[in-house]
Amino acid sequence: MGLRYVGRFAPSPTGLLHAGSLVAALASWLDARAHGGSWRVRMEDVDTPRCIPGAAQTIFEQLATCGLVPYGAVLWQSQREATYQAALDQLIAKGWAYPCGCSRKDIEAAQTQAVARHHAAVYPGTCRPGLNGKPARAWRLNVQAVQQALGLPAITEWTDRRLGSQQQNVNEEVGDFVLRRADGLWAYQLAVVVDDGAQGITHVVRGEDLTDNTARQIVLQQALGLPTPSYLHTPLVLGTNGEKLSKQNGAQALDLHQPLAALNAAAQALRLPAAAPDATVPQALAQWVQDWAALWQQP
Ligand code: GLU
Repeated sequence: MGLRYVGRFAPSPTGLLHAGSLVAALASWLDARAHGGSWRVRMEDVDTPRCIPGAAQTIFEQLATCGLVPYGAVLWQSQREATYQAALDQLIAKGWAYPCGCSRKDIEAAQTQAVARHHAAVYPGTCRPGLNGKPARAWRLNVQAVQQALGLPAITEWTDRRLGSQQQNVNEEVGDFVLRRADGLWAYQLAVVVDDGAQGITHVVRGEDLTDNTARQIVLQQALGLPTPSYLHTPLVLGTNGEKLSKQNGAQALDLHQPLAALNAAAQALRLPAAAPDATVPQALAQWVQDWAALWQQP
């Protein structure tokens, strides 16, 4: 095997693992095993006010009960302040990050006047030329400045191993996105890109709800001189109401007494066959590594 493989699972301890997040955990673990690579766990506890005390510890226990044991030390995003600040400073030094003084209301007001009418979430670039006397609140990436300086196309193209070819004009469809939030917390986009780079992640396997973030993350990787990993976004598990299963809509935490049942449900979402009824967790996982290699044999 030529390429060194480093994969990861990056839960946020804002709740416990549920049937939906186990799919991403299992898929990322199987992909690492099928490639003979390592699987790391990163605890994405940047959004400290939303983190639930004790959740991280329970997530490790849930993973271990399912036979998913990380390689090496866990990286905690709450301990990465200095590293994130250094990345932001690097962008500021290049003139690619700027302070923004807009409140949510300012952005909404600007949007009704601007072309962004059908892109509700697009930041209209109000503070790009300067704060205009407003106090700085958040820090944003100047997407066009990065793309122009590096000779990158306006449309970011990438290939998902399951969903195929993807493209997004980040500047027009998202705008200059936030790197550091008005409340002083680091934005998910900055933390995830800096940490995927620092951990040498070569393959990202995560839930399909995150697909839309990928183009932004690629632009930020390019701005920070970091390599772009390969991406696979896994199918979402829908609740009985047909909506994506998530902590927000009350998904049940995994039942640690029935790890094989939980794993079987996750395997089914990944189009893997059910484990033999008398299989142990390690036996089931070993079988799925074989099945996975046949199903998702990709770079
Ligand atoms: N921490 C994110 C979540 O739990 C996942 C981030 C990622 O895999 O890029 O949704």
